[in-house]
Amino acid sequence: MLQDQVALVTGASRGIGRAIALELARKGAKVAVNYAGSEEKAEAVVQEIIACGGSAMKIQADVASEEDVKQMVKAVVDEFGRLDILVNNAGITKDNLLMRMKEEEFDSVINTNLKGVFLCTKGVTRQMMKQKYGRIINVASIVGVSGNPGQANYVAAKAGVIGMTKSNAKELAARNIQVNAVAPGYITTDMTDALTEEQREQMLALIPLKRLGDGEDVARVVRFLASEDAAYMTGQTLHVDGGMVM
Ligand code: NAD
Repeated sequence: MLQDQVALVTGASRGIGRAIALELARKGAKVAVNYAGSEEKAEAVVQEIIACGGSAMKIQADVASEEDVKQMVKAVVDEFGRLDILVNNAGITKDNLLMRMKEEEFDSVINTNLKGVFLCTKGVTRQMMKQKYGRIINVASIVGVSGNPGQANYVAAKAGVIGMTKSNAKELAARNIQVNAVAPGYITTDMTDALTEEQREQMLALIPLKRLGDGEDVARVVRFLASEDAAYMTGQTLHVDGGMVM
């Protein structure tokens, strides 16, 4: 399905990013596993892909650093010769009520979750233009649509990602580069492990499909957007949320 294609997944050493990296590899893509923190976990993802007969490399980079992103894109193209799919998945939360949120908490979430998407998209665009082909898939969030108390920074970033997806889709369409997004709901990962049992129950009450999602739920939709099945889609944000925000 994605044979001979090269994918770069940011923040892919764990959680949703890891699931996306494994899913794209299962469909035949060569995968660059970006990580910021644990090299060991990134290496484990690479080894898992190689053990299944795929090709993968790990690459450390802070998506909020233009210099890191430039070096990351160069390393991927040097290794695999092209770059067809970028999944902007890396993200952080620093939740706090508005009146308590520190400037640093606001800035760091915007830098990683919004500026990071801008820098990585900009970073791969020249290569994708050269190839006259590219698929960029941004991992937003349903809270970027619905809002969420205590997450002014995160919601602003994710709403920005949804807007940027449309803007970049319009700008890059003529180059045969499609830009879409997924907006996950509540997905069980390290990011949501922090939820209390009470919060988890409150979430479930709001989800028509009556379960939290998992990384594979998101990964399969990302794989669809990366595939030829989505050849006539750009600028869209697909909610992967069990019906929570409809
Ligand atoms: P996670 O914390 O398990 O994974 C996030 C990954 O991003 C980590 O590997 C982390 O090291 C990496 N990362 C953080 N800052 C980085 C940086 N500056 N440069 C490179 N990598 C960096 O979280 P997750 O739940 O897997 O989240 C993945 C994405 O999905 C995020 O964008 C998140 O906002 C989004 N999302 C998650 C949920 C959910 O319920 N888990 C819901 C909606 C959206």
